[in-house]
Amino acid sequence: MKNFVFIFIAAFFLTQCGQSNAEWTKHGLTFAEERFSQLTDINENNVSSMGLAWSFDTNTNRGHETTPIVVNKTMFITAPWSVVYALDAITGELKWSYDPKVDRSWARNACCDVVNRGAAYQDGKVYSATIDGRLHALDAETGELLWETLTIDKDRPYTITGAPRIIGNKIIIGNGGAELGVRGYITAYDINNGDELWRFYTVPGDPSLPFESDAIAAAAETWSGGKWWEYGGGGTVWDSMAFDPELNLLYIGTGNGSPWNRYQRSPGGGDNLYLSSIVAINPDNGEYVWHYQTTPGDSWDYTATQHMILAELNIDGENRKVIMQAPKNGFFYVLDRTNGELISAKNFVPINWATHVDIETGRPVENIATNYFENPALVTPGPLGGHNWQPMSYSSDTGLVYIPAQETVFVYGNDTNFEYTKGAWNTGSNIELTYLPKDPNILAMIDQATFGYLLAWDPVSQKEVWRAQYKRPWSGGVLSTAGNLVFQGTSDGRFIAYRANDGSSLWEVELGQGIIAPPITYKIDGVQYVAVQAGYGGAYPLVGGLPAENKNPAQNGRMIVFKLNGEKVDVPVKDIIVSSPYLPNLSDDAVILAKGEYEYHQHCQFCHGAGVISGGVLPDLRHLDEESHKTFLGTVLGGMHASTGMASFKDLLTIEQAENIQAYIVNQAKLTGVNTSEVSSEQ
Ligand code: CA
Repeated sequence: MKNFVFIFIAAFFLTQCGQSNAEWTKHGLTFAEERFSQLTDINENNVSSMGLAWSFDTNTNRGHETTPIVVNKTMFITAPWSVVYALDAITGELKWSYDPKVDRSWARNACCDVVNRGAAYQDGKVYSATIDGRLHALDAETGELLWETLTIDKDRPYTITGAPRIIGNKIIIGNGGAELGVRGYITAYDINNGDELWRFYTVPGDPSLPFESDAIAAAAETWSGGKWWEYGGGGTVWDSMAFDPELNLLYIGTGNGSPWNRYQRSPGGGDNLYLSSIVAINPDNGEYVWHYQTTPGDSWDYTATQHMILAELNIDGENRKVIMQAPKNGFFYVLDRTNGELISAKNFVPINWATHVDIETGRPVENIATNYFENPALVTPGPLGGHNWQPMSYSSDTGLVYIPAQETVFVYGNDTNFEYTKGAWNTGSNIELTYLPKDPNILAMIDQATFGYLLAWDPVSQKEVWRAQYKRPWSGGVLSTAGNLVFQGTSDGRFIAYRANDGSSLWEVELGQGIIAPPITYKIDGVQYVAVQAGYGGAYPLVGGLPAENKNPAQNGRMIVFKLNGEKVDVPVKDIIVSSPYLPNLSDDAVILAKGEYEYHQHCQFCHGAGVISGGVLPDLRHLDEESHKTFLGTVLGGMHASTGMASFKDLLTIEQAENIQAYIVNQAKLTGVNTSEVSSEQ
C-alpha cells in the first residue's frame, strides 16, 4: 500500500511536471546540450496557428545572441553590453534589469560584436559574464549584485561573450580574444563567493617558466620555433561546453591559433596542442583527461568552440556514448566521449582545405593545392566557418542533427612581415586580400559564394537528409521538439517552423530584423511558449555582411515569444535613415589611398565592413556627414565617441595614417556610387 501511494504521488507529480510546467533551466536545456524539448502541445498539426504572446524591447541594437533561462515563471536573458533582464515569462513584464556598466571602449577588443549568449541559474541566483571579463552572481528575485570577480588580465584583450555553466558548486567560464592575441583558458569559481577553484590553460605559456600541468608540458612539445607566448597562442574557450555527470567529464571546445597563421605562430611546425580541439576535463580539479584535435596546426581560424552535443547512437549494432560537433572547419565529428576516439568524420559543407579525415590516424589530410605558405589561396570554409557559434540541435525522435550551416570563402596569405602589435588584430594572414579586388563583379561573386542553409544531418550514416536553403549566411541557432518541429530564425528576419523529419516549412513569420539567437520553448500553467531573441549582429554583419533587403539591422533587439492562437506580430521596421553623405575634397593620390586602404583593413573593417561597406549594424562610413568628417580625427584618435563603443585608436594610428584612412573612405564612397548627386565639394 505504501508503495502504491508513493507511486501514485510520484506519477501525479510527473504528470503535473510533464503537462503543466516545463522550464528551460540550462543553456542547452540539459547538460548534454541537445536543445531538444519533449513538449508537444505545439506540434506539426497546429503550429500554423502560432502567434505573438509578448515581446520585450532591449533598447539597444548590435547582435542579440541570448539563450533565455526560464525558471519559476521568470525568464532571464542577456543583451548586448552584457546587460541582464528578468522578465515575467507569461507576460514579458520587466521584473528587474542589471547593467554591469562595461567600459564601452573595451568593445575594441571584441572581435565579433559586444554580444552575450546567456546566463546560468541555480538556487535563486543568476550568473553571467561581461564583455570586459567579469563574472557575477545576482539575486534572481531582485537583481541585486551578490558577488563579482574579474576573470582576466586586463593587460590583454580578453572578452567574454559565452554563457557560464554550473556543475555542482562550481561555475565555469572561458573567454575570447585570439584574433588580437591572448592565451586561452577556462576557470572554475566557487558558486557561493566567486573564489577561484581551478584554471585550465589550453596552450603553453612561456617555455622558460614552469608549465602549469603535465598536459601543458606535453602540449609545449607540439609548438616550435615561434614566440607564441608573446602573441598569446590562442585556443580560447569562448563558447561551448557540455557535461556528462555519469563519466564526470566536462567537455570544452577550444579556438583558433593566435596568430591564425601557423608559419608565423610556430614556424618549426607541430600540431600546436590544444588549439581547435575538444578537450575532456575532470570538473573536480580541472585536470586534463583526453583531447581530440579537429585541426592540427590550425592556420585558418578553424575554432572547435562550436556547439557540442552528447547522445547515445547505435553505430554498427553497438550503443555508443558519443559527443558530436560541426566546427568551423566543415567536418561533422562523432567521437566516443568516454575516451575521445574518432568514430566518424564527414564534411557537411563543401571544403577545399582538406580532402578527408583519415579514420585510422584521426587526422585531416590537408590539400596541398590550397596551402598558403608560398602563395595566397582561396579557401573554403573561410574564418566564418561552415558553422559558427549558432547552436545546432539533436532530436532523439528523428535521429537527426539540425545544423545552421553556411558556405564561405576567404583568401589567406602568409604575412611574412608579421609583427605582433599590442591592441591590434594579429592574424599574420594578410586578411585584406579577400576584399582587394576593386571589380564589383568579383566582389559580387564572393558575396554569391557566401550563403547558408539549415541542414538536417544523419550523424550515424554521416549524410544529409534535407536542407532549407537561404540566400544569406549567418542565420540563427536551432531548437527541435517532440512535436516533430524544428525552429530557426533567419538573418533575413523570418522565424520559421519546419517539420523535423522532412523539412517541410509549416509556419513562418516576418520579424523585420535579422535573427541569430537560438529559440527555446517552455510551458507554464498548461501553455507552451516558443521564444527567440531578434537582433542582427556578430562577426559577419560587422565585417560587412550585407543586410537583407528592406531590413534595418541597426534597430533595437527584441525578445519575442509565441504561443498557439497568439496575436499578429507587429513588425517595427524603421525607415532606413541614411544621412546625406558629405564628401570632402581629400587626396586622391594613389599611394595615399593605398596606405589608407591598408590601415582601414588592419583596424576598421572588423566593425565598419570590408571595403567600407557596412553590414548595417554599425555606421556605414561612406555616409558620414559634414560634422563627422570635420571631427574625424577627434573620433579616431581623440576617442570622442568612446562612450558609445568607438574607442580611440591613437595607440595604433598616427595623424597621417588616420587622414589616409579618411581619404580612402571618401574615395570608396565615390567608387561605390554613394548618393553622388548630393556630393559636396567644400571642406
Ligand atoms: Ca577566431
